[in-house]
Amino acid sequence: MSYVDEVMEIIRKKDANEPEFIQAASEVLESIRPVVDANEEVYRKAALLERLIEPERVITFRVPWTDDAGNVHVNRAFRVQFNSAIGPYKGGLRLHPSVYIGILKFLGFEQIFKNSLTGLPIGGGKGGSDFDPKGKSDAEVMRFCQSFMTELYKYIGPDEDVPAGDIGVGGREIGFMYGQYKRITGQYQSVLTGKGLTYGGSLARTEATGYGVLYFAQEILKLRGIELAGKTVAISGAGNVATYAIQKAQQLGAKVVTCSDSTGWVYDPDGIDVAALKEIKEVKRARLTEYKNYRPNSEYHEGKGVWTVKCDLALPCATQNELQLEDAKTLVANGVTMVCEGANMPTTLEATKYLQENGVIFCPGKAANAGGVATSALEMSQNAERLSWTFEEVDSKLKQIMINIAHNVSDAAAKYGFEGDYVVGANIAGFEKVADAMLAQGIV
Ligand code: NDP
Repeated sequence: MSYVDEVMEIIRKKDANEPEFIQAASEVLESIRPVVDANEEVYRKAALLERLIEPERVITFRVPWTDDAGNVHVNRAFRVQFNSAIGPYKGGLRLHPSVYIGILKFLGFEQIFKNSLTGLPIGGGKGGSDFDPKGKSDAEVMRFCQSFMTELYKYIGPDEDVPAGDIGVGGREIGFMYGQYKRITGQYQSVLTGKGLTYGGSLARTEATGYGVLYFAQEILKLRGIELAGKTVAISGAGNVATYAIQKAQQLGAKVVTCSDSTGWVYDPDGIDVAALKEIKEVKRARLTEYKNYRPNSEYHEGKGVWTVKCDLALPCATQNELQLEDAKTLVANGVTMVCEGANMPTTLEATKYLQENGVIFCPGKAANAGGVATSALEMSQNAERLSWTFEEVDSKLKQIMINIAHNVSDAAAKYGFEGDYVVGANIAGFEKVADAMLAQGIV
């Protein structure tokens, strides 16, 4: 049995109850097969893959908090410190009822390769809790975040582990967590990114993931001789990534006709109104049903359906496994040119395979959405030198990083005979650097 297959067996046995982790690991291991085969003896001797698939550390803790009526609740929380071969652990915190260890291991594992692709010195981690911020008051969210940080602060630090936002964790939550960290430790440190601009945050961090997705997509299209301007785009999600992906797509001359949240989706034939979307989601924290009040020409539909809309580009920016085989078939039938992932692993393995086999340009999230973490690393640099760069400076660095990732991914795929397969390219380019660092550092 090949080394890759042996290690996949271990994962299926040991982590049988973590389907998302199995899915992420099998995609990565499958696509780095050519590199592993070429280095099998060295990797085997160092148990490189067995170490790669096992987090360096997983911290689990309870988060007790009191609601506005005085009732006590207890949530379960985690920090997965997956791999620090190339730098301190870096990766977001997710607050969503679906959070359990399998989701965070999949996200932490993906983060290792994504962070490596940015070219910056950051390792992979991820954390979060099954707390649901929906329907909670600001005071309840604050009490949860304070309790969460009261335990987490022991395990993070500017040279150790620097968490950021993810689903359910935006500027409000990062602010509450940072305040509590500072209160406990008395330290004004770069221990979280995505901070507010008045207390160490970076300009363009809020926009970075969504903007980066478009910079990446534009560069890959350019390599294929295709213009982004004038294209029709379908986007899912209505959160941080989706909102700024929509904004940048429109700035680059494309027309975005959809967005969605966890209950329904919007079709706006005139192009999504970003100001209205921000007002609904960021200010009112309301449902997309309200969008029609701002844009009478638009349609609101309950449930799933974004991928039924005819488009040239599809950008899934909501959550994992939201684009399934049936969706892929509809997109292909409607003549889609590119699917570029803004979310982490939003496309199932079967859907990815179908899209690639049917000539769709497929860009995996670990490359396309790396702009968020890259800009988080730029926030750490600014904090370390006690300076703030201008929006234009951060944005141009972000753009250059995304262009570099596009070329590295494309070159790595071509080098191993998989030209145009950006899944293989991203996994190989991300893996090689981490593997070299792990081998150099001995059996740790
Ligand atoms: P947000 O919480 O800001 O937004 C998430 C959006 O997706 C919301 O519109 C939400 O709906 C919707 N959504 C969440 N869960 C589900 C679900 N189970 N079914 C349907 N819709 C759902 O998160 P982000 O925009 O930050 O993150 C989106 C994706 O991008 C995630 O996969 C995340 O891991 C990834 N990502 C985020 C980065 C960042 O910098 N923020 C960086 C890299 C990747 P509702 O409005 O109803 O809650």
